Amino acid sequence: MYQQKASKVNPVRNSSGAFPPARSSRLGGISETGEADQPLAENPSKIILKSQPEAGQPLADNSDVDPIRKLYFSNGVNKTTSNGAKTKIAIFDLTGCEGCEFHLLSLDELLLDFFQNFEITNWRLLSEKEREDFDIAFIEGAVTTKEQINLLKRIRETSKIVVALGACAISGNVFAQLDPQKRKKLAAKIYDKNYRLKAEFLEPVEKFIKVDEKIPGCPPDIELFKNLLEKLKKEKIVSKIKKVTPPDFTSKIEGHGVLKINFKKKQAKFEVEESERLVEGLLLGKDFEQAPFITSRICGICPIAHNLCSWSALENALEIKISQEIIVLRKILLCGQIIKSHLLHLFFLVLPDYAGVKGSVELCKKYPAEFHLMLNLKRVSDKILETIGGSSAFPSNTMLGGFRNPPKIDELLVIKNSIFEVIDEAQDLIKLFASLETPNLKVNTVFAHILPSENSYPFYPGRFPQAIKEIVRKGSTAKIGVLKDGKIIKVGALARLSHFSKVLQPKAKKAFQELQLDFNNPFHNNLAQAIEILHFLEETINLIEEISEKDLKKSRGIEKVNLPSKIVFGSSCLEAPRGILFHQVKINSQGKIIDYNIIPPTQINLASLEKEIRELVKKRGGVSPWQIKKQVKQLIRAFDPCITCAVH
Ligand code: SF4
Repeated sequence: MYQQKASKVNPVRNSSGAFPPARSSRLGGISETGEADQPLAENPSKIILKSQPEAGQPLADNSDVDPIRKLYFSNGVNKTTSNGAKTKIAIFDLTGCEGCEFHLLSLDELLLDFFQNFEITNWRLLSEKEREDFDIAFIEGAVTTKEQINLLKRIRETSKIVVALGACAISGNVFAQLDPQKRKKLAAKIYDKNYRLKAEFLEPVEKFIKVDEKIPGCPPDIELFKNLLEKLKKEKIVSKIKKVTPPDFTSKIEGHGVLKINFKKKQAKFEVEESERLVEGLLLGKDFEQAPFITSRICGICPIAHNLCSWSALENALEIKISQEIIVLRKILLCGQIIKSHLLHLFFLVLPDYAGVKGSVELCKKYPAEFHLMLNLKRVSDKILETIGGSSAFPSNTMLGGFRNPPKIDELLVIKNSIFEVIDEAQDLIKLFASLETPNLKVNTVFAHILPSENSYPFYPGRFPQAIKEIVRKGSTAKIGVLKDGKIIKVGALARLSHFSKVLQPKAKKAFQELQLDFNNPFHNNLAQAIEILHFLEETINLIEEISEKDLKKSRGIEKVNLPSKIVFGSSCLEAPRGILFHQVKINSQGKIIDYNIIPPTQINLASLEKEIRELVKKRGGVSPWQIKKQVKQLIRAFDPCITCAVH
């Protein structure tokens, strides 16, 4: 059953018609599209997925009409769970990279058992808020604010079993190494002297409430998670029910942000409320080799991008040249990361909106063909990450100047063959996303991307000819990245595709040419990501063929490096799944980090996200407030923001 292929997805809705040219001028890695001011479609979210015949009707998304409600708790009501109901589970995220939650998705087919055996009443990453009661609570992330302490206390009052999920929740992880006394001073350095720190401390969950179970690891050990679920499903667990209302963070995005819309004034804001982990401060004084592993913990969905960008910045600082084989292996690894990140975003975070369900828990149960299509593609990306990176989550096999254990060519050929088996499913994925009817928003966009070193699609290595200015803004824990002259730019799949469609791999290029992808419509970023999944699968095949005759043992990394005689600086940029990522480092003659700066793509995209939300609300002609709020959330998800990256 689980080998089932999803070949019955819907045909391409718009299979003909010319691709609209991006009205643009281009300078370096930057290009600008024109604007066409058109009203929004009245009813843009037509459902085209085919659900299980026995499944019920799609749920209406009318759960949170009040746009600015931000209550942490509602009144408790003492009552017991009704007989025969399933044990209810809620998953809460505090301060971390959300990699624990994404790692739970590596249950793959067992996810269906998980969703079948338990009722998931709250999981912001995957679903709109459903209910406020539960019997078991899983907590991811460290505790960094008084609001989180209050939330934990309330969770403890109602939950029969509290599980600390992963190293951040259990010990604070590496982030707890930062001396609390230094937090304010470091915030002044990283932001500015007037910056008001949101997270004045960073502590484990157990410091504030009793924890019943722990699943250690970073990411948490999935076998321990499975064992715990087995244990828990044996008998019904009933808690003393009180309602716990978590913060009103926008669901189905990575990290914590709050959407506020004033319908009367036609104004909208997306406020970033992620707590600061001060990663750039944590790195100061550490041996330089620790940077790639610590920075990979910034993000649970694109850790390889940080890891590789960090190694490249260090290599540039230390003037270490790397061979073509190592570049190719890193490219394959990054292909795996982009495929996996796009896939998780498209299936778990985007598709539920268009399928008329509140989240992917329901989506997985109701649309098994699409679920297995996603799993088949995800397995290939996981295999790439495990074979080259050493793990499907955080890379453990990368090192300065290469790899600890270079992969064997036979292992790469297995990957190549497995890609051939899923190519048609990647094509089906494009058809699926092409058939979704998206809101008709047109915005003026300035795209930016790295300049690849050869005539190829941009990802790694590359360069960006201009400097990014980071702006600290009141009320936001993320800095905003703009060009030096203040110009707002947009990065990511649409930006890459806008100027490199000619160098897409053949099948991806054909699919692209058959579609009406509109670069002025930010909702089309989803379709652009689907096209990139196919492109990077084909790219991986080519890259494996390119090194199939090479001696990969030579890609072993450098064990001992001569330390510099003076302070050295290095920087690097690459295309992460969401766009350009920058790492910059200064190392002293003892090999210690004395300065580190990271500019992730979401930091850059936040400025255009704000602008486009405002445009959407302004052009809402004739659309109900509920509908417009739904579209704004869809727009935020189409951006694929990674807020934990943006704040770091
Ligand atoms: S850093 Fe590790 S433990 Fe912390 S949230 Fe991410 S995956 Fe979980």
